[in-house]
Amino acid sequence: MSPAPAKLRGGVREDPLPYQQRLAERALEDIDLVVIHATELPDLATAREYGERIVHPGSQTGNSGHFYIDRDGRIEQWVALDRVAHHTVGYNTRSVGIELVNLGRYPNWLDSRHQDWQEEITPAQLEALVELLALLRAALPGLEFIAGHDALDRRWVPASDDENQKVRRKLDPGPNFPWPAVIQASGLDRLESDDRPEPSG
Ligand SMILES: [Zn+2]
Repeated sequence: MSPAPAKLRGGVREDPLPYQQRLAERALEDIDLVVIHATELPDLATAREYGERIVHPGSQTGNSGHFYIDRDGRIEQWVALDRVAHHTVGYNTRSVGIELVNLGRYPNWLDSRHQDWQEEITPAQLEALVELLALLRAALPGLEFIAGHDALDRRWVPASDDENQKVRRKLDPGPNFPWPAVIQASGLDRLESDDRPEPSG
């Protein structure tokens, strides 16, 4: 089997973001990492609105993952694998971003009184994620690592309700994400960031 470059088969609906062609190109061989995210938004349509927003004026592009998995297990691809999506500061060039539709801390992301994770990923999402990871391993010869966004962005920021308190900028894919099951099923190694700044730092 030789999958076409930058394409995946099997239950993945392609719906490229309007600015996909303005995202930097890369070789598939340079991808060694998958980053797992949660959208921290109510639904896929809202995630699309956020994804389409132009937030990088220079390149006229926005922030998004490559793939989105809805609560019912439907998978959409918004960015081709041979394009660099903006999803994890410092790790974009080498990685594929997978976003799970999930409330997270929405809409009080940085409120010190609302840091509890509000929703678990669904069994259908987990099943779809495992399937997608298998497809990616087949399509990407250099794929070796997997990480949560929270492990690669350990920054603490002032809380939105009280600047004297600090909260984690990123907690996705959430404290109860089933890492052991995903690691075992994917055959990938878990990657953790080296720097772990303290809240007082
Ligand atoms: Zn994220």
